[in-house]
Amino acid sequence: MSIENRLLLQGRCPRCAERVSPRLLVQESDCPHCESALRGPADLRTKIADRQLGFRLVGYGLIALASFTTGWIPLLQTGVHLLALVVLHLLVIHSSLKWLSRKRRALTRLTLRIYGALIAVAGFLLNLALAPLVGVAPFVLALVGPAMTALYVEVSIWLVRRRLDRQAEGRPIAVGEWALPLALLLGLVVASLATVTAVYAVVSLVASLDTPGATEILHFVTERTP
Ligand SMILES: [Zn+2]
Repeated sequence: MSIENRLLLQGRCPRCAERVSPRLLVQESDCPHCESALRGPADLRTKIADRQLGFRLVGYGLIALASFTTGWIPLLQTGVHLLALVVLHLLVIHSSLKWLSRKRRALTRLTLRIYGALIAVAGFLLNLALAPLVGVAPFVLALVGPAMTALYVEVSIWLVRRRLDRQAEGRPIAVGEWALPLALLLGLVVASLATVTAVYAVVSLVASLDTPGATEILHFVTERTP
């Protein structure tokens, strides 16, 4: 990476190295200190969005391995999935939010939180569905676990990139930027209700399979009694 791009990514003017507000840098305005254009050899927005690609790929590989290992114990992979979502968000996405204006950043952060919660609930539901399939679960989770995490991370990066472009063009906050978190919240409520129903169904199923009711035992015993 060139020295100019490195300075830009650190939030500094590529010419005089003074600190400049991220918003001015994204809009490629002039430096308030030396008045030169705040522009590097490569597009700053692409640089922000494409950061840590290698890191992300290694992360997905590790999640596949951890999902396979924990997949042998029912529901344990849910913990791996949650941890992966939080760690990758903090390491990959969090720092790119600072380039957005305050209001747009707050809305984007809210959207990503609800989206992450939806993915986490979906991961839990998958674990629940796989709970009875002890031998199969590790293989399915090793594939679907990293795929679901990637779905969160890559879609989030794409969303932040779109918001950065809007910001650079100086466009105001669109209706969609408000409506998206609301729609996702509605989806989260529905998904949570589905989860509660699924947990109830699985618990009653397990209860009816493993522990026969007292009446059944009584029936069994009385039938055999001469
Ligand atoms: Zn400058």
